[in-house]
Amino acid sequence: MEDPHKKYMKMAIDLSRSGMMQERGGPFGCIIVKNGKVVGKGSNSVMETNDPTAHAEVVAIRDASKNLDNFQLEGCDMYTSCEPCPMCLGAIYWARPARVFYANTKQDAAAIGFDDQFIYEELDLPMKDRKIPFSQIDQEEANQVFKEWAKLDNKTLY
Ligand SMILES: [Zn+2]
Repeated sequence: MEDPHKKYMKMAIDLSRSGMMQERGGPFGCIIVKNGKVVGKGSNSVMETNDPTAHAEVVAIRDASKNLDNFQLEGCDMYTSCEPCPMCLGAIYWARPARVFYANTKQDAAAIGFDDQFIYEELDLPMKDRKIPFSQIDQEEANQVFKEWAKLDNKTLY
């Protein structure tokens, strides 16, 4: 019997190639599986959609969430053709799948020009030393909304 992990990873890799060939974006693909069924898929679509966040994992998470009608990917396995970048890693933690399988490493991605190492390095820097400056303004006014949220009776936490 075929190893299901290899089967799903091959689907993710096939998506990475077809997305690249169709010039949707870079060579990245992702499949999301629940109970032996593919519930979401995506390839990098940054160029096709002019969306810098349309990485394969994000596209697949959006597809699976829509198909499952749920903003949590409980019990799902993700198969991504490359180790996720920091943005996708964050998206994965918000979506909370059960497991992630990856093929290429971030070093493999860096070797072909997709270097996200600098983002990992930015995370460790004080905000004032980051390449994109961050400045805090108007906290008091914004925090008023947080206080209103905290008082809501039936709120959905995620
Ligand atoms: Zn990413």
